[in-house]
Amino acid sequence: MSERGSFEKASVRDAPLDGARVLTRVDFNVPLEDGDDGPAVADDTRIRAALPTIELIRERGAALVLVSHLGRPKGGPDPRLSMEPVRARLAELLGAEVALADGVVGESVEAAAATLEPGQVLLLENSRFEPGETANDPELAQGLARLAGIYVDDAFGAAHRAHATTEGVAHLLPGYAGLLLEREVRELTAVRDHPERPLCVVLGGAKVSGKIGVIDAFLETADSILIGGAMCFSFFRARGGATGESLVEEEGVAPAERALARAEERACELMLPTDLVLGDRFAADAERRQLDGTEVPDGWIGLDIGPRTIADYVEVIGRAGTVFWNGPMGAFELEPFAAGTRGVAEAVARAPGVTVVGGGDSVAALVGFGLASDVDWLSTGGGASLELMEGRRLPGVEALRDA
Ligand code: ADP
Ligand code: MG
Repeated sequence: MSERGSFEKASVRDAPLDGARVLTRVDFNVPLEDGDDGPAVADDTRIRAALPTIELIRERGAALVLVSHLGRPKGGPDPRLSMEPVRARLAELLGAEVALADGVVGESVEAAAATLEPGQVLLLENSRFEPGETANDPELAQGLARLAGIYVDDAFGAAHRAHATTEGVAHLLPGYAGLLLEREVRELTAVRDHPERPLCVVLGGAKVSGKIGVIDAFLETADSILIGGAMCFSFFRARGGATGESLVEEEGVAPAERALARAEERACELMLPTDLVLGDRFAADAERRQLDGTEVPDGWIGLDIGPRTIADYVEVIGRAGTVFWNGPMGAFELEPFAAGTRGVAEAVARAPGVTVVGGGDSVAALVGFGLASDVDWLSTGGGASLELMEGRRLPGVEALRDA
């Protein structure tokens, strides 16, 4: 697929790479599992996604210092969240040696960086081992800037955070966009600003509060918004409906009410489920029943959208010129409650329009259903893709040089 959407930042393709040392922020925040000798990478999708930029920088004769966060270490180094398993996987994928630094910044890290030859790769330790990372501490940014002469950001999934490795250091070194970050911004911006019509936005997942900005933005520009997942219960509560024991995010109810009111005044159709699948517990072996309607009785939890809702949503998705999907339609991790998410995933996969799926659990669902290769763009960034769609500026992108 050709690149769509505009991008106004300087590209790594145009950076003076020959003979340079390049600090590259990647998103190697991968899931880990227990291996024979300690933690191992459970899913290397994010590492693979950064390979084109890494390979381009090496081929152009630069040495690479890579940095990423991994998980949420609490206030300091945590051996269980070391980058070592990532280093091992990256070395396999590159077919080249990758060295692991003994920290994020400091004298010994600077010494290791200084010995790098063109094409060699040094991976820094987990950036969140430094409390200054999330605080965007200028001293940490200076320590990072001492490691290289050029900065490249390819971590789209972290671009909505103004952290030392994503934003602070970009003000101290000439900053360029990596290939993945650029492609992400182009694909998502095209959907936001120049969609093929009709534009259908499918939103699900647990919480409405994190997505209300996206709903507000798309009420102005989309032709339809289809709501599923637990977030529909904030809307039902706002309409005065019974939600039983369903997961209702209380702080989402007032925003949902406002969205319903605004939808009345807009050309955009805000669609809610008209039937549900209920369980008596959040468990795969829960007692399960279908509900024709959305008044959830006491003692029951709404855990999926029902068959009529699936059929309605599938129809709208099939007619769309563009589909943007974020968030599962139900508790899809539990097989008896996965039908709604699977139905939407299959519809998105076969849709003739442009299809873009934004990060997180919806991507995991598509991968699980074996449908990942049937959509036009799978974003590597959940939160970042939503913030971009809302029209917010991403600090990690803003800080880069203009083209
Ligand atoms: P995403 O990561 O795609 O943005 P979220 O993180 O907001 O989505 O929500 C995903 C979670 O929401 C999943 O773990 C799923 O089980 C849960 N979920 C979806 N629908 C329901 C529901 N009706 N009841 C309880 N949990 C739900
Ligand atoms: Mg999620």
